[in-house]
Amino acid sequence: MKEKKDVLPIRILGDKVLREKAQPIEDLTDEIIKLAKKMEATMKMANGIGLAAPQVGKSIRLFVVDTEYLEISKRPMVFINPVIVEKDGESVFEEGCLSIPGLYADVIRPKKIVVKTFILRRKKLVEREIEADDLFARVIQHEIDHLDGVLFIDHLPPEERAELLREWTKKRHSMG
Ligand code: ZN
Repeated sequence: MKEKKDVLPIRILGDKVLREKAQPIEDLTDEIIKLAKKMEATMKMANGIGLAAPQVGKSIRLFVVDTEYLEISKRPMVFINPVIVEKDGESVFEEGCLSIPGLYADVIRPKKIVVKTFILRRKKLVEREIEADDLFARVIQHEIDHLDGVLFIDHLPPEERAELLREWTKKRHSMG
């Protein structure tokens, strides 16, 4: 079991940090390694498949993906300074976001991607080119969007987006 103290508060829509363009990571510090650990714990606790640093208030280009849940590796993967270099196909899938709890919508995205990134492995950075498909590709694209201040609702037609946000705001207010 992860200890509660490792779990970070998740920033919610309306928080400015979610709209900032995150900065590239120049040096791997102990602070960043610790942050990645806490983000893994936070993601697991919140039942998310991915979590980007801006969602915990850090405007840096890092995110974690629960690749254990996706059955891609035995441990969650930490992506640092990722860049999508190829996109192919198209798929529609219902997305949600830990920063917009309770709002879900179908989003169209490329089905396959190739991403150039650094991965954190045993406290070291390893450069990788990763081919991702289906849900893995979708999570990576959703998280990279977070690093650019983009949220999944921004991909929706303007009217659908406005309607969903109206409902979401009403629901949050009524929860008091
Ligand atoms: Zn999200």
